Amino acid sequence: MALLNPSSVKSRPGFPAKLASHGASVTPARTAITTGQLASQRPIIKAVHGVGLDSSAVRQSMVAKLAQQGMTIPAVLQAMGSIERHRFVDTALVNQAYEDTSLPIGLGQTISKPGVVCRMLELLHQGRPARLGRVLEIGTGCGYQAALLSLLCTEVYSIERLRALHDKARDNLRHLRLANVHLLFGDGMPGYARGAPYAGIIAAAGGEAVPQAWIDQLAVGGRLVAPVSAGASSAGKQVLLVIDKTSQGVVQTVMEGVYFVPLKSGIA
Ligand code: SAH
Repeated sequence: MALLNPSSVKSRPGFPAKLASHGASVTPARTAITTGQLASQRPIIKAVHGVGLDSSAVRQSMVAKLAQQGMTIPAVLQAMGSIERHRFVDTALVNQAYEDTSLPIGLGQTISKPGVVCRMLELLHQGRPARLGRVLEIGTGCGYQAALLSLLCTEVYSIERLRALHDKARDNLRHLRLANVHLLFGDGMPGYARGAPYAGIIAAAGGEAVPQAWIDQLAVGGRLVAPVSAGASSAGKQVLLVIDKTSQGVVQTVMEGVYFVPLKSGIA
């Protein structure tokens, strides 16, 4: 299965590139895969009881639970059923990979729980064409959501501010050879202007507000989904914010409460 849209190749910005406002170097990771190749890597997985050769069945049961929770978009559910979450977590956590729980991925960061990832992807996808155009992800983390996005979008630009996680995501994604995923090391606060305008922007870390640069880099007709602080007196609580950019202006919709790691400036 070719995941790359040839027409988008021409418009892809050149690499290596610099994130202008912070001078952080940007490193792409691009290769091509068929999803048929997903089944047979990292032999250690096979040794772990309960999640191995039958991980497909475990994943299907996770998808069934997501559907029971109200998730309905076939393309999103199909992506959740095909990307192997257990390959993105440490070996010791493999048996929990298909539970609806967030898990540590190192450096105090977490991979979001499948229910939240699925919900955000559904919000991003809602009412849009079967395959979204270019999408920007802030917070690559272990690369799991970037892999899901690769099945739903023509191009994925994913930025991570922690070098060790950027490297980990590149390792996790290498065998999938997703030609349309571009991993960028840098601060995502200013977005990534070279890939703009985006059909979608999705953040996996929550700040006080959505940076104006992200809204500026959204295409008209595009949608942004991000956790933000619920307000100064909210004692650290966050809500999911949906921002639609229309020809008449920007429309914001506040969704349910969520808990995400903080959006931080700079790189480390
Ligand atoms: N989507 C990820 C979730 C990672 S958690 C996954 O599937 O694993 C959120 C990530 O956002 C963390 O790795 C954190 O380092 C990163 N992050 C926080 N602020 C950021 C910023 N300004 N720019 C880029 N990444 C950021």
